[in-house]
Amino acid sequence: MLIDLHSHTTASDGQLTPSELVNRAENRQVNVLAITDHDTIDGLAEAQRTIDDNGLKLTLIKGIEVTTNWLNHEIHVVGVNIDPTNVQLSNLITLQKEKREIRAIEMGRRLAKANIEGVYEGAKALAGEGAITRAHFARYLVEQGVAPTFQKVFDKYLSRGNTGYVPHNWVDIDEAIVAIQQAGGQAILAHPNHYKLSNKWMRRLFTDFKALGGDAMEVAMGQQSPQVRLQLAMWSEEYGLLASQGSDFHFVGRWRDLGKALHLPEIAKPIWADWPIYKEFKEKQLT
Ligand code: AMP
Ligand code: MN
Ligand code: MN
Ligand code: MN
Repeated sequence: MLIDLHSHTTASDGQLTPSELVNRAENRQVNVLAITDHDTIDGLAEAQRTIDDNGLKLTLIKGIEVTTNWLNHEIHVVGVNIDPTNVQLSNLITLQKEKREIRAIEMGRRLAKANIEGVYEGAKALAGEGAITRAHFARYLVEQGVAPTFQKVFDKYLSRGNTGYVPHNWVDIDEAIVAIQQAGGQAILAHPNHYKLSNKWMRRLFTDFKALGGDAMEVAMGQQSPQVRLQLAMWSEEYGLLASQGSDFHFVGRWRDLGKALHLPEIAKPIWADWPIYKEFKEKQLT
């Protein structure tokens, strides 16, 4: 069974619409896909409609990726199996949406001061109705020829310490965990090795995440060395967190794709082990 529990659509900074995303997942023989857009669940309804209308075999897991504050670090928490109608989660999403909008306007102001005009408006147009992210700023700045590549824009303008960077002000990590769980979901620490933390700080993060009631951490991602994957699996064991896997797919590119190179090391305890969809699959295999 091919499982991918981390992906993005045009509801945030992904480049495929929810419809296109589920069709791609189906074609790539993904059986279980979570859509986890940044601080929004707006892509979920269209995705499920497409699955139903076209009789796709794919099972959609309703998800979100919440950007949070942990000791002044920006940490991402993926929620899966959430109830999109839950009030606590909706309130958190409303709050994050405001924070994203305020930050985006401030980013535009700072870039304008550096004589790069109209960037907020440009990024906003690219984001459309969706959650506005730094990826939209980056795309717009590349389009305008301000920098040659996505990566260079981040390095020069959008990452910490640069002209367009605005110190973050996200909800605290414990609030995100609570909201996800109140919505009936499970909270997963996303891509722990992407935060540039030393091992000491990484261990501190695992300890806190577990103590705050977090359920799992991402262990397998598409592009990753076997050593890193095994290390993450060992940490998940050590800290009593279940293991998750996901491509973090944003667009069709050379290296990353839905369901690509995703499997957990033997020692890891998968977050989906007791999900009905997985149990049914196991039973079918036995009969
Ligand atoms: P935001 O949540 O608005 O800060 O936007 C963050 C998004 O921008 C991430 O989810 C990535 O998709 C993208 N991103 C962040 N940092 C980088 C980077 N250094 N290089 C490329 N993309 C990045
Ligand atoms: Mn993103
Ligand atoms: Mn992330
Ligand atoms: Mn992501």
